[in-house]
Amino acid sequence: TERTLSIIKPDATRRNLTGKINARFEENGLRIVAQKRVRLTKEQAEAFYGVHRERSFFGELVAFMISGPVVVQVLEGENAVLKNRDIMGATNPANAAAGTIRADFAESVEANSVHGSDSAENAAIEIAYFFAQSEIV
Ligand code: ATP
Ligand code: MG
Repeated sequence: TERTLSIIKPDATRRNLTGKINARFEENGLRIVAQKRVRLTKEQAEAFYGVHRERSFFGELVAFMISGPVVVQVLEGENAVLKNRDIMGATNPANAAAGTIRADFAESVEANSVHGSDSAENAAIEIAYFFAQSEIV
């Protein structure tokens, strides 16, 4: 079993979709083993998306991520990293497979409702960024 970091983004919390999105995880065999609703600071959002610092959309992405509350969570299950990427669907909702979170809920390539770690290695880094071991149960 594996863990991955998930973030329900501001476009989704604004539309009251937290429960519907969490149901997708649970229906697909992922367990929510840690969860908190927070407002990211600019510094936190910049650090979290630091790999995209040179991309043209970085400033807008950071502004979007701090535009409202997010729900940060740890999902646990068999192949959790890949499984969550499947449940989320492609980054751009126009390319996301039917039945995925992004196909069903995302507003745009930027306001795409969820984040999920892209590797087990990054998952460990991202989880440690938001949670103490004692908060993951
Ligand atoms: P995430 O890392 O949020 O799970 P991802 O791994 O599918 O998404 P990345 O390539 O890591 O996609 O991009 C990170 C985030 O940056 C995307 O989820 C999206 O919110 C935003 N983003 C990516 N590409 C664009 C773009 N061309 N224009 C605007 N925003 C973008
Ligand atoms: Mg990514």
